[in-house]
Amino acid sequence: MSTCIFCGIIAGEIQGKVLFQDESVAAIEDVNPQAPLHLLIVPLRHIETLLDLNDLDVELMGHICSVATRLAREHGVAEQGFRLVANCGAAAGQSVFHIHFHLLGGRPMKWPPG
Ligand code: 5GP
Ligand code: ZN
Repeated sequence: MSTCIFCGIIAGEIQGKVLFQDESVAAIEDVNPQAPLHLLIVPLRHIETLLDLNDLDVELMGHICSVATRLAREHGVAEQGFRLVANCGAAAGQSVFHIHFHLLGGRPMKWPPG
């Protein structure tokens, strides 16, 4: 049994809506959506924070961007604008310590996020 929420969802041990999965990443619907579209793009491998990435993960990070933009298009939010954001560390708002990129779209967004 995984102690990590996202590892648990990927393994099917914890309930969660996985909209997409391939050999290295998954896209999970956020349980507490902050926009009409709010997905979490996660590597299948458990990596705690962006600080734990290494040089071999360059391709993985590019793949996450590619998957995110494809999902934005498929969900019809690409042209109007969307946000792809990752919080690193508790002070930056990270609450789940398995890297994830929030894909938010379907409403206007402000900057800075606060
Ligand atoms: P963070 O605060 O780490 O940047 O983002 C964590 C995200 O995970 C939050 O947006 C939160 O709503 C989401 N989340 C937390 N627990 C669960 C869960 O059990 N299932 C799903 N699908 N999302 C979760
Ligand atoms: Zn994990």
